[in-house]
Amino acid sequence: MKRLNKILVAIFALILLSVLFSLCAYASGGERYEASITNPNKHDVIINGQKVGEAFHRAEIEATCQKKAVCHDCKAEFGELAPHDFLAATCTNPKTCTVCDYQEGGPIEHSGGQAGCLELAVCSDCGAEYGEILGHTGGEDKLSCTSKAICERCGEAYGATRPHIGGTPNCQIPAICTVCGSAYGELGEHIISESWVIEKEFHYQTCAVKGCEGEVFNDGDHTDENKDGKCDICLYRYQLSKGQKILFVSGLAIGTAFLIVFSVFGIIKASKRRKEME
Ligand SMILES: [Zn+2]
Ligand SMILES: [Zn+2]
Ligand SMILES: [Zn+2]
Ligand SMILES: [Zn+2]
Ligand SMILES: [Zn+2]
Ligand SMILES: [Zn+2]
Ligand SMILES: [Zn+2]
Repeated sequence: MKRLNKILVAIFALILLSVLFSLCAYASGGERYEASITNPNKHDVIINGQKVGEAFHRAEIEATCQKKAVCHDCKAEFGELAPHDFLAATCTNPKTCTVCDYQEGGPIEHSGGQAGCLELAVCSDCGAEYGEILGHTGGEDKLSCTSKAICERCGEAYGATRPHIGGTPNCQIPAICTVCGSAYGELGEHIISESWVIEKEFHYQTCAVKGCEGEVFNDGDHTDENKDGKCDICLYRYQLSKGQKILFVSGLAIGTAFLIVFSVFGIIKASKRRKEME
């Protein structure tokens, strides 16, 4: 019995010693890890200076785009750099890495908001104005010389009115629009009458428009280039040519002479006949 006790105590003491030993060994760094020379993904497990096996690195710090993963055990960097950790592009920024700020591509287009006839759309994300204004549209059935087109979208009058049309202006009144009846534009020209006003020495024309007085056109002295005794322009028979004067005077003289001769003969004949009757 005593012997059995002794054996048990000895076994217990051995166990205790081995536990203590291994604790001491552990505490004194008995198990170590060293990056494997042969396999970049593993580290060697070393106990008491002896390599006892290999194990895969396990990340203590995950890899980023800037730094590889760090092994929890051997503290070595391993594996590849991680891809950039992109934040999606916005309308103001291209897609951007949250780690290193690397940017790729360009910003996306502004979105949201509604353009109007006169206003740009406002981006619902960043508040910037973007795109193009739509401009007024339609409503041309309302367009005339007195009213503008009325936009079908916003109801505002826009653009220019149509020009007035028709009518003939004269020197006293501008043209009268055949659509709306209002006078428009500049005064027109004088309308020169076809007839002439004839004075003794000269002639002229006047404006035929009612109410237009005092305007004189084409005034000038009578002239007779073709010697027909009439003004070449106004046809006024104002004097006889020299030849005509001579003809006229001689004709008159001959006529008078004949008249006198016949009268004398007549008187003589008549007195003869009276004497015969007696
Ligand atoms: Zn490791
Ligand atoms: Zn990055
Ligand atoms: Zn925007
Ligand atoms: Zn409009
Ligand atoms: Zn008009
Ligand atoms: Zn006139
Ligand atoms: Zn004349």
